[in-house]
Amino acid sequence: MSEKTLNVYDIVQQQIKEACDALGETEEVYNVLKQPKSCLEVAVPVKMDNGETKVFQAYRSLHNDAVGPGKGGLRFHQDVSMDEVKALSAWMTFKCGVAGIPYGGGKGGVIVDPTELSQGEIERLSRGVISAISPVIGDMKDIPAPDVNTNPQIMAWMVDEYSKLKGQNTLGIITGKPLEFGGSLGRFEATGYGVALMIREAFKATNQEIKGSKISVQGFGNVGRFAALYAQQMGANVVAVSDVSCTLYNKNGLDIPALFEYVKEPKNKNMIKGFSDAEEFDRDKIFEVEVDAFAPCALENSITSENVDKIKASMIIEGANGPTTPEADKVINEKGIFLVPDILANGGGVMVSYFEWVQNLQNYYWTFEEVQEKQEVKMVKAFDDILDIMKEFDVSMRVAAFMMSIKRVADAMRARGWVK
Ligand code: NAD
Repeated sequence: MSEKTLNVYDIVQQQIKEACDALGETEEVYNVLKQPKSCLEVAVPVKMDNGETKVFQAYRSLHNDAVGPGKGGLRFHQDVSMDEVKALSAWMTFKCGVAGIPYGGGKGGVIVDPTELSQGEIERLSRGVISAISPVIGDMKDIPAPDVNTNPQIMAWMVDEYSKLKGQNTLGIITGKPLEFGGSLGRFEATGYGVALMIREAFKATNQEIKGSKISVQGFGNVGRFAALYAQQMGANVVAVSDVSCTLYNKNGLDIPALFEYVKEPKNKNMIKGFSDAEEFDRDKIFEVEVDAFAPCALENSITSENVDKIKASMIIEGANGPTTPEADKVINEKGIFLVPDILANGGGVMVSYFEWVQNLQNYYWTFEEVQEKQEVKMVKAFDDILDIMKEFDVSMRVAAFMMSIKRVADAMRARGWVK
């Protein structure tokens, strides 16, 4: 099958098989894990502004809940499909397993292009979707969160609707809420901060210093900008960043706080193009920059067999979800590039979502510093545990991460008596 046509559901099943084989896991365990436990499809009627009713398809997949309730985002996108939602829910099981948090994996999606909807239509759709999937979600069952094209405001409408249905405030039903309505401090920064922590740990694991190193970051959105900012605070020179508009390069290191301010100016439309004090290249130049570590934090399938040979970094830290195609992954392994996989590197987001849920359930809220400290302890432990497995079994860090996670889920399934 060609690199371009590989379905995400096939990819995740391949990854589960590879890790089960490496662990010597039973066929029973693989058969349970290769597919979700349930996947609900609903049709949601929404009254549009012109008075007509339109029907939207939505899905919620619960991959596995042996360790704890399902956890995972809910996206609004015209290309959502049931297979994609199923695959993403499986990745969530393993991401939560890697992070060492007591959740299984869930994911949801609605087939809609939200740019074609008014705010009122988006609110009615959000309320309709949460009501339609309410039988399969719950703060001890499956807990949604924001994902592509959904945000804290949408989460707030959904929590409000769900709370009305239940007749009581149920803040722990969804994470990624606004701060003033049960959100957690540190959630906004969490994924990028976690990526920076993993960059720092990758330097340590390869007996190098982050201080004075050169790094590059693809993507300057929520993940990329905080990864760059915190990596710089940890002593790295961020010599290149890119986004959809261009690549910026400064051999002495870019001024990331100034770039933060620059993209916020309305005339710059959240883009880095035109920033002074840097050379400007086309956006794919980012792959070729001479650096110690490269953090792809933009989108899936960005490192392919076509550009992988251009990468000069000795470390890759995957901030985005699925940024490396399986073919490029093989090349990276053959070259001995140290790669920290997405399910570990970008797990900071779901980790602080877990912290948000814990705070909601106990109705007691932590400081920003407390949240970041707890995140650091858990992420560094996950990195070290996976590194041990990588060395013991002589496998890549990606396979080691899946192995650790699958073992956790399989042990819980055995304890419950689901499998031998
Ligand atoms: P975002 O929309 O805030 O930012 C995406 C960035 O990528 C933008 O700067 C955009 O210009 C850039 N980009 C898009 N196409 C590009 C291209 N071809 N070349 C270079 N840059 C390009 O998204 P985000 O929240 O930062 O998420 C980025 C990735 O991280 C996604 O894969 C997402 O699934 C994953 N992720 C995000 C979180 C989170 O908490 N936000 C958590 C886990 C994983």
